[in-house]
This record gives sequence, C-alpha cells and structure tokens, in this order.
Amino acid sequence: MKSFNFFIAIAIVFLTIGCNNPSSPSADTVLLNGKVWTGESDTSFVEAIAIEGNKVIAIGTDADVKKLIGDSTRVIDLKNRLVTPGFNDAHIHFLSGSMILSSADLLSTTSLAEMKKVLLEYAQKNPGKPWITGRGWQYGFFAGGMPNKKHLDSLVPDRPVFIRAYDGHTGLANSKALELAGINRNTKYTGFGEIVKDANGEPTGAFLEGAQSLMSKVVPKATQQEQLDALRQGMKYAASLGITSMQNANGDVEEYDLYRTLHKNKELTMRFSMGFSVRDNTTEKDIADFISIKNEKGDPNWLKGHAIKFMVDGVIESHTAVMLDPYSDIPVDDRMQAKHWGIPLDRYRQLVAQLDKEGFQLYTHAIGDLGVRETLNAYEEAAKQNGARERRHRVEHIEQVQADDIPRFAKLGVLPSMQPIHADPGTVDVWSKAVGEERLPRSFAWKSLLNAGATLVYGADWPACISLNPMRGLHSAVNRRTTDGRPPNGWIPEQRISIADALKAYTVNSAYGSFDENTKGKLIPGFFADLVIHSQDLFTVPSMDIHKTQVLMTMVDGKQVFKDPSFKE
Ligand SMILES: [Zn+2]
Repeated sequence: MKSFNFFIAIAIVFLTIGCNNPSSPSADTVLLNGKVWTGESDTSFVEAIAIEGNKVIAIGTDADVKKLIGDSTRVIDLKNRLVTPGFNDAHIHFLSGSMILSSADLLSTTSLAEMKKVLLEYAQKNPGKPWITGRGWQYGFFAGGMPNKKHLDSLVPDRPVFIRAYDGHTGLANSKALELAGINRNTKYTGFGEIVKDANGEPTGAFLEGAQSLMSKVVPKATQQEQLDALRQGMKYAASLGITSMQNANGDVEEYDLYRTLHKNKELTMRFSMGFSVRDNTTEKDIADFISIKNEKGDPNWLKGHAIKFMVDGVIESHTAVMLDPYSDIPVDDRMQAKHWGIPLDRYRQLVAQLDKEGFQLYTHAIGDLGVRETLNAYEEAAKQNGARERRHRVEHIEQVQADDIPRFAKLGVLPSMQPIHADPGTVDVWSKAVGEERLPRSFAWKSLLNAGATLVYGADWPACISLNPMRGLHSAVNRRTTDGRPPNGWIPEQRISIADALKAYTVNSAYGSFDENTKGKLIPGFFADLVIHSQDLFTVPSMDIHKTQVLMTMVDGKQVFKDPSFKE
C-alpha cells in the first residue's frame, strides 16, 4: 500500500508540473461545464473533456481540463448539456439506406394513404426517372398484411414501380414492372422466397425474400458515382443523428471498394466495418476475396472487413422466419420449416465451421426461435471443432427466442445484436398476430438476455426499419411504447431496459461487438474523440421524452462532422 501511495504522489506531481508548465502541449478542443458520460459504468460522469488530435487526452472537473487551454484551443461551453460517446450502429445496410435518400423514402409513412401520397409526389417530382423505386412500406398498411399491385397501378400506371417493405424482405411491383420483368402466371421461382400469386394463379405483385431478385435484376443499377454520392449524403445524415461508427450487416467486395475509395479521398466521416454476405451460392473465389480483405493491413480504425454475414431465415410478418412451432395466423402446415431456411442447414453448418476456422467474426440473421437455436448450435459446434479463441460471433435480430436458449448466449460468448426500433409498437400488429399470445413474452427479449449475462449490442438495421435515429431506438428500448405513448403500459413491458443499458448497447457494447473496445465506445484518455453533444440529459428526462432529444454536435476523430445551427458554443 505504501509504495502504491508513493506512485500516486509521484503521478500527482507530474500531472501538476505538466499542467502548469507553459510549454506543455495544450488541447485542440476542450468541452467544459457539462455532464460527460464516459461509458465506464452506468454512473461515470465528469464535467469536462479535452481533445488533442484525434484522441481524448483528459477528462475530469472543469478546473482540471481548463489547465489544458492554450492560445489556439477551441473552448466549447456545454451549458450543462450531456455528452456521450458517439453512437455505434452495430447492424446497418448503409449503401441501400443511403440509396433510399435519392429514391421514394417511405420509411416515415404510417398508412397506405400516406404511402401513396409520398410515392405520387416522388413520381411527379422525378418525371425523367424511368423507374420509380422506393422503400419503407409496412405490412400493416394492407388488409391481410400483404400488398397488391392494384395499390400502385392506379397511382403510377405508365412507369414501372418497385417498392420494398421497410424491412427489405418483401417487394411490391406494379403491372408495368411485372410486364418489363416478364413475370406472369407461368413464372416459377424455386429459391428462398416466393412470387406471391392470387387464387387464380396471377402474380399479385408481391415478392418474398430472394424472389425480389427477379425484379431487382431489371431495375437499372446505380453507377459507382451515384453510389458514392449516395454514401456521402448518407454519412451527412448519419452524422446529424450522432452516429460515428457503423457495422455493415451485409455487403460485398464492390460495396467495400466504395468505402475504400472514400477512405483514400479522406472523405470518411464515420468508421466502418463490414460483414460480407455469404449465401448458399457463394463461391470459394468469393470467400478467398473476403479472406484477403480480412488480412489486409489497411487502416482498421476507419475501415475493416473482418466479419461474415449469414441469413438462416426471413421475417415473421411474411412467415419466412423459421419458428419451432407453427405460426398462429395461418393454417398449421410445415410450409415455413420445409421451405424457408435462408440457406440449407447442412451448408450453413459447414460454412460456419470453415469461416470460423479462418478467423472471421460471424453474424447470422436469425429471427424465428428455431432459426436462433440452429445458429447457436452451429456456433457451438464450430467452437468445439476449431478450439478456443475470442470469437464474439453474433446472432442478428432474435425476435423470438426459447427460454432454454437465452443463457446460451453468455455461456457461448455469443452476442445478441438487436434493433430496439423493430419493437416499436406502432409496427407490430401483423407481427403479433403471426406470433400469437402465448409466445409474446419472448419477443425482443432484451431484458431477459441482459439478465442472463449476455452483451447486448444495438443497431437500427436501417433501412430495414422505420428510423435510423438512435433516439428512436433508445426510446423504444426504455419504454416499448410509440412516441405518442401507445400502449400506455408498454408492449411486453417486462422486456424494457434502463437508459444506461440502452446507451451501452449503442456505444461500449457495440465497440466490443466489433473488437474495438480498446479504442472507442468510451470517452477516456487514449480513446478516439468520437462524441455527441445532446440537447437534453437522456439520463434524467422523463423517459417518454427521450425521442425528442436532438443532436447538437457530432465529433469524429476529434473533428466536428455535424453541428446544429441552434447550438452556440
Ligand atoms: Zn439487416
């Protein structure tokens, strides 16, 4: 103990000398007079923070940090506002999301009438577009949960239209688009998904899962320049929401090259990691390409491709998620279990073992409880085969989970990667009917997973969600109510979590979820200065006001990447 005290004394002397010495390096930026949540624990708060270059160099009281102010230091008066580490969205499809920003953005629409209005306006504003594309409709807009081409035919009869559901798992084409794609009553599709047909055998215009590829191959593809422009626009939008890091949940080498180009041009304003999509038809050559990217030295603090993304099932709304027991709202049959594995299970298990051995982190989309179970089984088996290592494999979504499987996450070191916005009660009507009363308590079971010791990571799954805004995600995590308060007691309220746990899932834990816990996710000396200044204190505002929180400033790598005009330093 004595020598410990001695070291402390020496350290204090050095610190004092350092701070009083006029030649000591001063900070580039200091943020004073605030409430900085450092992310070290639920209650780790300091008043002030100092940044030099791209790193945090000091945290503490105003008095401590003021000592680091030099002639050219930018001093930001926080006026008691909250600062948190930047949001790290652990599950996003950033290119497709960014592309929506230049197509018909239906994500914010809440009814069929609204959807039609936005679509029509978009078509009128873009008379030169040969195709009308968009994304964001919800299953609940349509009687029976499934849309029909008739909703589009009267609206835009003369141009092809193809619009995807908010989750991306179902698409809707108008008659013109079906005609151009050559799809009629005789067209067959045998892969994962379905061309939905009516009782007379006519295509309804709806396409489930992989069958959407029949349409996407005739929709004109964006040029690389258009994609880069979309990503630039997307980064601006994400920065305005306080997002400083993203983990792409599926991608290919082409998409990775876009980020590489932006990185080379020093245009990245957030840090990216990539999970490359592996499907049944992925070739050994594709895998070799992923391995060579993973092994690149590169600049992993900005860009890395270290993960693989699988999909073992689909979504509950269209009955393509693989459930242990039959869906509650369709006749009991074995349709889903026989037909809707996203990838044949044997092939999946073999690929998991192979890619685990290569050292990849694995993400698997699994929404139904049987899908989740089989994913955990495959991870467990791969660990047995390939021996111990720090894997941090993840299951994405987990909308339904069996009680027996909940403790397996912590036990196997597997991370639940979930999206609180998917449990917004305004969007779960069709979902709930398919799941049925009895299974509801096991829906989006964040609290049960936390209680069982799992490291929960959060993202939005944009654009497969109603909003990219992390405040909407936090709101949903803490309240399980819509922003206008439905239902009054919360939807399955026992699965609500605290604001600190929700923030951790979006910062500290998501950094752990991409092996970056030693560089980001906390605001402590030596960590990257990726942070957000908030308009109000998320820890103390009434929980129903969380969603109203505005981002006033976002910094990445010590640089301002967004500032709200209302914020005066
Ligand atoms: Zn996704």
